[in-house]
Amino acid sequence: MHLDPFELHRPTSVEETVALADRLKGHFDFLAGGTDLLPNYKMHINLRPHVVALDAIPELAGHSLERIGAMERLAELERDDAFRRAYPSVADALREVATPLVRASGTVGGNLLVETRCFFFNQSYFWRASLGFCLKADGDRCHVVPQKERCYATFSGDLAPALMVLDAQVEVAGPDGRRRVPLTDLYDEQGDGIRRLKTRAGELLVAVHLPPESRTLRGRYRKLRVRPSYDFPELGVAVAGSWDDRRVTSLSLAVGGVEPYPRRFDELTAPLVGETLSEDRVRALAEAVTRAVRPVHNTFLLPDYRRRMVGVYVRRAIAEARGSLAA
Ligand SMILES: Cc1cc2nc3c(=O)[nH]c(=O)nc-3n(C[C@H](O)[C@H](O)[C@H](O)COP(=O)(O)OP(=O)(O)OC[C@H]3O[C@@H](n4cnc5c(N)ncnc54)[C@H](O)[C@@H]3O)c2cc1C
Ligand code: SF4
Repeated sequence: MHLDPFELHRPTSVEETVALADRLKGHFDFLAGGTDLLPNYKMHINLRPHVVALDAIPELAGHSLERIGAMERLAELERDDAFRRAYPSVADALREVATPLVRASGTVGGNLLVETRCFFFNQSYFWRASLGFCLKADGDRCHVVPQKERCYATFSGDLAPALMVLDAQVEVAGPDGRRRVPLTDLYDEQGDGIRRLKTRAGELLVAVHLPPESRTLRGRYRKLRVRPSYDFPELGVAVAGSWDDRRVTSLSLAVGGVEPYPRRFDELTAPLVGETLSEDRVRALAEAVTRAVRPVHNTFLLPDYRRRMVGVYVRRAIAEARGSLAA
């Protein structure tokens, strides 16, 4: 597999990047660590003639407990003891992204915007050509759910659920200026699965912001994958909250790796605030989340198994966040 030629741009500020993206009118991709984009380019998936590298923009680098630059490498966060202690759900997720080598190049922004995955899509050009291309690249039909309207490729980033439960916000910059949106609003649940984000054309992810209150929460991220040293999630469950023996003061839960977008389930966790977190309530919550998710058959493990494991992982994540491994 080889990379086809493209024109490489290397702006040095957010403003220059936004102006350049505006001029290129969608005929480009942003390049962060390249661990997702470049393998896809090598498989001739959705090539663009221009690539805008983000590694020379100082504002996108670095992190503190409040702000993570979009170009911060996953390995840099993982190395920071204070960050790991402050955000246990994110620390869990970081440890389980791919391999140390991928984490040395892969960035936070790239992880949040990682392309969705499907075993009919993440294949070489020749493999895809022999079967017939699909809606997401070069074709007009879906091989997983036969129809021509919607792609069901799975969102397989580990960080998004772990950051969602902390009320993280993302800062984006575009032709109309800068804005902050909750991370939960970044992904377009109503979209066709191909256009997956609510960002506008040419908008750049600048940073992730974390509220100070999120540092007081107990949290966990638990991931199901086939090869524990390497694979993308077949399921990822994040929880964060605060509670004592008598009552829950806050609880949030998000799931990734089973649908085209990561999803937070406030409608199921909100009724537990003010209640005791009894085993029966946790079991009922796990069953409700299991009923709510809709995996399809486009990854290694069968959808029914992944769906049933959602309940198991919800119970485990909550039990471990409470400091008990009994689930
Ligand atoms: C072998 C292997 C295993 C992997 N396993 C996992 C895994 O277990 N879990 C997991 O989460 N990921 C996994 N990945 C995917 C990927 O490596 C990581 O998600 C990584 O964090 C992506 O970051 P990146 O900087 O390399 O992104 P890139 O490849 O540079 O970019 C990814 C996408 O995001 C866009 N983008 C990047 N930054 C910005 C920005 N600031 N603004 C706007 N758009 C932007 C790019 O245009 C591109 O579409 C794996 C990859 C490989 C090769
Ligand atoms: S879910 Fe369907 S359209 Fe999407 S990548 Fe897979 S086969 Fe293609």
